[in-house]
Amino acid sequence: NEPALAQLSNIGRISADAVKINANENPMGPCPEAAEAIHSVVQKGGRYLYEETFDFSKTLADQEGVKPNYVMPFAGSSDPLHRAVLAFTSPTKPLVMGDPGYEAGQRAAAFIGSKVITVPLTKTYAHDVKAMVAASPDAGVFYICNPNNPTGTITKKSDIEWLVANKPAGSILLLDEAYIHLSGEAFGTDLVAADKDVIVLRTFSKLYGMAGLRAGAAIGRPDLLSKIQHYGAGALPVTGMIGAHASLKVKTLVPERRKIIADIRNDTFDWMTKKNYSFVPSVSNKFMVDVKRPGQEVVKAMAAEKVYIGRVWKAWPTHVRVSVGTKEEMAKFKVAFEKVMA
Ligand code: PLP
Repeated sequence: NEPALAQLSNIGRISADAVKINANENPMGPCPEAAEAIHSVVQKGGRYLYEETFDFSKTLADQEGVKPNYVMPFAGSSDPLHRAVLAFTSPTKPLVMGDPGYEAGQRAAAFIGSKVITVPLTKTYAHDVKAMVAASPDAGVFYICNPNNPTGTITKKSDIEWLVANKPAGSILLLDEAYIHLSGEAFGTDLVAADKDVIVLRTFSKLYGMAGLRAGAAIGRPDLLSKIQHYGAGALPVTGMIGAHASLKVKTLVPERRKIIADIRNDTFDWMTKKNYSFVPSVSNKFMVDVKRPGQEVVKAMAAEKVYIGRVWKAWPTHVRVSVGTKEEMAKFKVAFEKVMA
């Protein structure tokens, strides 16, 4: 998932008053309806309760306008992301992705010796779909994260459609929509409904505040999903499934949370603009700041102030990623950042 395991174990030991804005989590946690549903199912947790998974999956399919067999639920989106890269890339079928981009697919590709081709984002921080398609006639997977992690920037729907129409035969688009609800942008699931070679990934770890509870899904044509199908018992955590299902039924949740997070983000941007700090405008719950010196130095100095910010990408060595926390957390971020940057 987000932070590397080693980083996670360190973060797990930091003091309770530290600010953790390093993993694009949602400090609001699950909505009350999800929390209540989870409480109510705990005592039944001795059963596999496959029906809860099925009900969640069916509601998500209905809401996305696809048939139920086009949705495959998972405990988060990391699992189907890894599986898709393992299933659709190979030493002769590369993974093509944006740079800077979310690295999980890259690590899965390395695991089986698949080549990874990274293509710089455009000047407006979108995926350069033309350069991505041109990069490999043998590609197995084109990975687009929309809005992107780490930049929080959008790739236009028309560009995504262009890639789908022009990518080489036999490849798929793996469209990671982990942050789509935060952006208010159009979903990519209509491409799935139109039976394109597209797998959309969704997670409940971000806007829905369920990173530790674990729920997500892959949405795609059944013949594509069959390649990443469950093995073993296939049972998913009922807490995650029932919490995700309850969240989907709260119609006001997405716009309300999107606004809360956008307001805090935009307040932080106003402050950064006033202070003359350079950042990439984001529509997500994280953003990149150009600290004009090796980013890792700033990450370390911020940690000494008990403010844990995100990591640095090789392609952008002077940028650090900052997740959007609560108002109070961002107030602490501002104090620490000003001190570190002075
Ligand atoms: N995709 C992107 C772009 C992410 O940023 C993350 C986590 O941060 C994930 C997928 C995986 O998250 P999870 O397994 O919690 O759904």
